[in-house]
Amino acid sequence: MIGLASARAAVDGIIATGRSAPVLFYGAIGAGKSLLAERLALAWLCPKASQDGPCGECQVCRTFLDKGKAIDLQRIEPLGPSRIIRVGQIVPDSALDWEGTAVTTFLQTLPTVGRNRVVLIEDADRMNQDAANALLKTLEEASARARLILTTSAISRVMPTIRSRCIAIACELPGYDELAGQFASLEPHELLFSEGAPGVIHHVREADEAYRTLFALFEDLSGAPPGAALVLSERFKEAAEALEKPTGQTSRACHAEALRCLALWIRSRMPGHPDRLAAVVETHRRIVGNASANLAFDPLFATLVGP
Ligand SMILES: [Zn+2]
Repeated sequence: MIGLASARAAVDGIIATGRSAPVLFYGAIGAGKSLLAERLALAWLCPKASQDGPCGECQVCRTFLDKGKAIDLQRIEPLGPSRIIRVGQIVPDSALDWEGTAVTTFLQTLPTVGRNRVVLIEDADRMNQDAANALLKTLEEASARARLILTTSAISRVMPTIRSRCIAIACELPGYDELAGQFASLEPHELLFSEGAPGVIHHVREADEAYRTLFALFEDLSGAPPGAALVLSERFKEAAEALEKPTGQTSRACHAEALRCLALWIRSRMPGHPDRLAAVVETHRRIVGNASANLAFDPLFATLVGP
């Protein structure tokens, strides 16, 4: 079995055998972790679920499939620009400015309409130590109808004490043939920018024109004379900012995304230039750390063009 098939089989196994331990999905961004996490969540929520999974027809199923929500499901995601899951999201903390319900509070109540109360923690590697410890304590005290699902694209950064409590399921990227079967036609920029992750291909397609413009600009980099650096830098900034509207991201996030794509392009097309790749990675680090794009891009492109 390749790609997501073995992960899907593992989820079906958990549903069929009625296991209730926490489940941790891990794998690359866009591999399909959230899709499987939601499948398991619904199987645990649906009051009419069988060994084959959720019924798909009851009120709980229909609301979830329609809106991605359920009264008995609590989603936890990292907060703020630093993207940290804080201890206040696990146990109530009035100092945390957050509208959500803390996990312990949520799990104190028995299911309202669902079969279980389910907590889904996305990017679980972003839990700080206090949050992870609080979660472990919560699990020890939780009712028999509490269920926990975690996802991460950085398994090595999930605390070992959490990992050891979970059934870990690897979500692997599909092979090329499987990917080609899933997407009718795949273009070079889609394959390169997605790194073969189906979820990322969907995102690339949602901002198709902007990603095409970026790719065309990168292709102009090879063989560009040193004098072209400033023009290319300006074109890069414009192309990056064209991502803002279709993706709904901030301009800083779009600058970082365009640099991610540039790094992939250099790795693939200029493998003999590790210095150039390092310059892009360093610029990405500075942009994420709040540096000015204007000040960062010009020297970068001066490094990228020429012999
Ligand atoms: Zn149902």
